[in-house]
Amino acid sequence: MAGSGAAAATPRDEPPEEPEGGGRRWGAQHAGARELAELYSPGKRLQEWISVILCFSLICFNFYNLLFYLRLEHTPSVIVGIFAGVVTADFLSGLFHWGADTWGSVELPIVGKAFIRPFREHHIDPTAITRHDFIETNGDNCFMTLVPLANMAYKFVSFSPEALYETCPWECYVFALIIFITMTNQIHKWSHTYFGLPRWVIFLQDWHIILPRKHHRIHHVSPHETYFCITTGWLNYPLEKIRFWRCLENIIQGLTGEKPRADDMKWAQKIK
Ligand SMILES: [Zn+2]
Ligand SMILES: [Zn+2]
Repeated sequence: MAGSGAAAATPRDEPPEEPEGGGRRWGAQHAGARELAELYSPGKRLQEWISVILCFSLICFNFYNLLFYLRLEHTPSVIVGIFAGVVTADFLSGLFHWGADTWGSVELPIVGKAFIRPFREHHIDPTAITRHDFIETNGDNCFMTLVPLANMAYKFVSFSPEALYETCPWECYVFALIIFITMTNQIHKWSHTYFGLPRWVIFLQDWHIILPRKHHRIHHVSPHETYFCITTGWLNYPLEKIRFWRCLENIIQGLTGEKPRADDMKWAQKIK
């Protein structure tokens, strides 16, 4: 169950508390958090800039083309497609987040520093994300959606108008999925932001159209073992009910012998 780790069962958004003997247990001054923040390199920053520019250019191009081929008779299937796209995005956000939180380590070549590092940093310094600018917040997600966006753009320039008319509802599903995956970390950042949020963002959170702040706090209770979905969070409750993540972890631990969250624990304990 969420919050079963009694010793550290304080949501990590709380102001950091000072433990006995010097080192902080979490927050920006936590030794592990400082070390992880220093691993954010200029090369990584450049990759994020390129990803964001390419991603938003392709989104504009595809959106314009989708509107061009959309017809009134598509309405019911487009509504279903968009809803299914958002649910799929929420599931994938959970799967990816669970994978990065639970397995692998910062020492892994390439992916360790580039993709696993931010997840480790986020658990020991959850408010760091609120100090990240737009590029650092959204760079990784923009990078992940580049290939499907380019694939969609390729279809718009190479398929016949008849074929594009036929596949329009399907492309709406894919587009909603891509948009919500691209927006996931921005939505996640908003769920950690307690001051100065635009009113429309608070409205979307209050109506649980995007991840609400209170809902996401459940994930930030050590040992971070549930509520991994961070786009809308709609799937968190049903997945917890069927013990989905626990079952996956048991299967993987049985097959590989790896202990879930071993690397995450290592960074959390690095207080000196
Ligand atoms: Zn996490
Ligand atoms: Zn978070």
